Amino acid sequence: MFNKEQTIIPLKSKVWLSSPTMHGEELKYMKEAFETNWMSTVGENINEAEHMTAEKIGCKYAVALSSGTAALHLAVKLAGEKVYGNTVLGKGALHGRRVFCSDMTFDATVNPVVYEGGIPVFIDTEYDSWNMDPASLEKAFEIYPDVKIIVIAHLYGTPGKIDEIRRVADKHGALIVEDAAESFGAAYKSGQTGGYGDYACISFNGNKICTGTSGGMFLTNAKEDADKVRKWSTQARENAPWYQHEELGYNYRMSNINAGVVRGQLPYLEEHIRQKKAIYYKYKENFKDLPVSMNPIPKECEPNYWLSCLLIDKAAMCRQVRGEKDVLYTSEHGKSCPTEILEALVSINAEGRPIWKPMHMQPIYRMNGFVTRDGNGRARTNAYIHSTFVDVGADIFERGLCLPSDNKMTPEQQENIIEIIKRCFA
Ligand SMILES: *Cc1c(COP(=O)(O)O)cnc(C)c1O
Repeated sequence: MFNKEQTIIPLKSKVWLSSPTMHGEELKYMKEAFETNWMSTVGENINEAEHMTAEKIGCKYAVALSSGTAALHLAVKLAGEKVYGNTVLGKGALHGRRVFCSDMTFDATVNPVVYEGGIPVFIDTEYDSWNMDPASLEKAFEIYPDVKIIVIAHLYGTPGKIDEIRRVADKHGALIVEDAAESFGAAYKSGQTGGYGDYACISFNGNKICTGTSGGMFLTNAKEDADKVRKWSTQARENAPWYQHEELGYNYRMSNINAGVVRGQLPYLEEHIRQKKAIYYKYKENFKDLPVSMNPIPKECEPNYWLSCLLIDKAAMCRQVRGEKDVLYTSEHGKSCPTEILEALVSINAEGRPIWKPMHMQPIYRMNGFVTRDGNGRARTNAYIHSTFVDVGADIFERGLCLPSDNKMTPEQQENIIEIIKRCFA
């Protein structure tokens, strides 16, 4: 248990990592759907939510689906069919094919590759953006020159270096699936994330910056892709008087009720971003004398500031040992670690979270390839202690954490949170 705490009064109401923020219009659109009996996966809320999302991203088509994961699944399937031809029933469009994937991310980024029979190969993270490292990606093409699909996530709402990734992808004739689930509203150079991939998705899960309680959107500029995804998501019916099927279908369409929530939320996206940005900069300002840094913002990026994160300087890490499912640490004067800070947050009724544990460290993916800028990360893991080899994802996971980032957090609540984190380094 956390024991550097002296007299910080627990927060009266819990501060969440990131919880839904409702405004009222959501209920109006839900009610409208109810009263007109469009209580299904068809209706005005869906049409409007799709239209508004496409407009915000600056792409031609958005298809409303039941989750961000569903959107990613169909994006990955579409990419697979584009590159490798039609799906063999029961084997998936990516059967036996390697796909390069972000490594430090939520597993929903990579699972769809496996749904389609593919084999994720993980690309290490860069310190600049905490996203896929373009140099490691280039290295990966040296090792696996046949790969034709890249799945890249923009973590915590900060865009990765998508134009450098694009340059590498084009050089090797690969398609990009962009997982903008966490970064809705974030901009890279002149464009929005979700507008750079050949196929892209965003999420409206309950803790994302805009929510539909659950839901997601598939994004594209090609009408035929949008039509295909809409068809697959509604059980892949052919145009016939009966239920006629030529392809495998899914029940992935968004409900008109969820779309009502999304429709009510969308006008508040910019407000949510402003609130989250203020939270990020307040942390940054108040931690400037601590041996820590905030999650970085690369040049020419405007994040959506979905989650504020902290990285503890190497020299200020107390001893922390993580097993597969548990952790031990030793409290030390002047030092701390993510576990101690997370416990301190719990002690005052606030919620933080460890950094996404990198996929190459996950038991489910321990046999998959992992490439760092030095080359094959798996081959080098054993030599870790004896070389200058860096595994950036493992390092950020070791030293980093997500801070309470709820946009309903008051300045006073945030000041208490800042105070208890300062005590951790006492
Ligand atoms: C939330 C999330 C998803 C999945 O979205 P759901 O709507 O929860 O299915 C995918 N990738 C990342 C990086 C996410 O954070």
